[in-house]
Amino acid sequence: MERYRVRPGDAVDLSTIDTSATPEFEGDKDDSISVLDERRQRLAELQDLLYAEGKHRFLLVLQAMDTGGKDGTIRHVFRDVDPIGVRMRGFKKPTEPELAHDYLWRVHPHVPGDGEVVVFNRSHYEDVLVVRVHGLVDDELVRRRFRHIREFEQLLVDEGTTIVKVFLHISKAEQAERLQARLDEPNKRWKFSKADVAERARWDDYQRAYEDAIAETSTDAAPWYVVPADRKWYRNLVVSKILIDTLEALDMAYPPVEEGLDDVVIE
Ligand code: AMP
Ligand code: MG
Repeated sequence: MERYRVRPGDAVDLSTIDTSATPEFEGDKDDSISVLDERRQRLAELQDLLYAEGKHRFLLVLQAMDTGGKDGTIRHVFRDVDPIGVRMRGFKKPTEPELAHDYLWRVHPHVPGDGEVVVFNRSHYEDVLVVRVHGLVDDELVRRRFRHIREFEQLLVDEGTTIVKVFLHISKAEQAERLQARLDEPNKRWKFSKADVAERARWDDYQRAYEDAIAETSTDAAPWYVVPADRKWYRNLVVSKILIDTLEALDMAYPPVEEGLDDVVIE
């Protein structure tokens, strides 16, 4: 999955990254179903190991344009993990008390503890994206926030957290289809907001803001991956593989068991 990782210092031009690419699978969704099943199983094994060992902390940050597939990715990729060791945390528009503090204040309490996997559905990155696009912060403050974010993430990594950040990259045409589907399907209408149309009009500004944020905060400690996400099945395959590869690199092991267990007889 190295092909999707943004290396520190890389320039990011989202317009050159094909949102509908499915390289290893040549566009064949059917072949992918059994592969995704295997990956979900492997992810469940690794999450069990992480929980049992209780040594590492794992954070996945998910960002995307509206309709980019954050919820669907969570639903599909994490289907087989044990909810006991996994937490999902969404970040919506800040509340009054949240706005009365610095932007990392609401984030820090939700980072994973020992043995935990946490998924951020949106994150502290909103504070260099949506607020920037809406002109609520100037560029100088955004530069400083990039530095805070790099240092905040470095702190988490220094203290035992593994961080993976994923941008689900869809095209503007794909967003149009997905917004239309939300309008057309009665059970999806609740997800539609007229504000989504206004945000869509700022598509190019969002893409520029994402390019800048990703380039400025993709570090060796906390790398960004830009994942082609127009094809949901391919997106799920890639995100699950990134997680598996990262977790395997931790070289985890089940904790040692008590001595003499072979002699134990349960009466
Ligand atoms: P959704 O993900 O569709 O539930 O929408 C959540 C909304 O909250 C999105 O429009 C985000 O842009 C917005 N949001 C999340 N974090 C922030 C933030 N820090 N500042 C402003 N808006 C935010
Ligand atoms: Mg929304």
